[in-house]
Amino acid sequence: MNLILFGPPGAGKGTQAKMLIDKFDLVQISTGDMLRDEVNSQSELGKSAKSIMDRGDLVSDDIIMAMIEKRIQMTDCNNGFILDGFPRTLKQAVELDQLLDNFKINIKNVIEIVVDENLLLERINKRSTENKNIRNDDNSVILKNRIKVYKKDTMPVIEYYRNLNKLNAIDGMQSIEKVFQEILKIL
Ligand code: ADP
Repeated sequence: MNLILFGPPGAGKGTQAKMLIDKFDLVQISTGDMLRDEVNSQSELGKSAKSIMDRGDLVSDDIIMAMIEKRIQMTDCNNGFILDGFPRTLKQAVELDQLLDNFKINIKNVIEIVVDENLLLERINKRSTENKNIRNDDNSVILKNRIKVYKKDTMPVIEYYRNLNKLNAIDGMQSIEKVFQEILKIL
């Protein structure tokens, strides 16, 4: 079972992804995590991505597509994967469809966790005061940019899936357990 999970920064995407992974024995493919690994290992890719990520802007589509193409061919994906944080631009979505076609891989559901913008800001502010291992891009100025980028670049991707009748939107302002139950209903 392969899924795509959408949600703005702070929507609880990561939490839901982890719960789905445990329940269905899936792997999570988070382009954000993959990029942070590259940054931590100080690879060439990581070095060029770091400043972009610290601003909350998007890394180039070509870099992301190359990473994804490699990742979805790995054998641990055979039982199913959750795409988290990808595709984030229309170009990535269109190229993903070509990749999936080539590899004869099918996406079962596209799920959008919908959360009101004020609540997102509240959650992230809380996350950045509570967490000592705070991410460079988890502060309210950068967060606002990440939300802006999400609206500008990623909302069109959500529309793309809506037009293909593949989108399931879920109210993300309920409890973690309730959101999870709604996702299970869709699956
Ligand atoms: P968020 O918590 O905002 O969803 P992620 O952890 O998914 O953030 O991504 C962190 C950063 O990594 C993004 O702000 C962006 O710079 C970069 N990034 C992650 N995924 C992509 C992608 N698919 N395309 C372009 N840039 C990406």
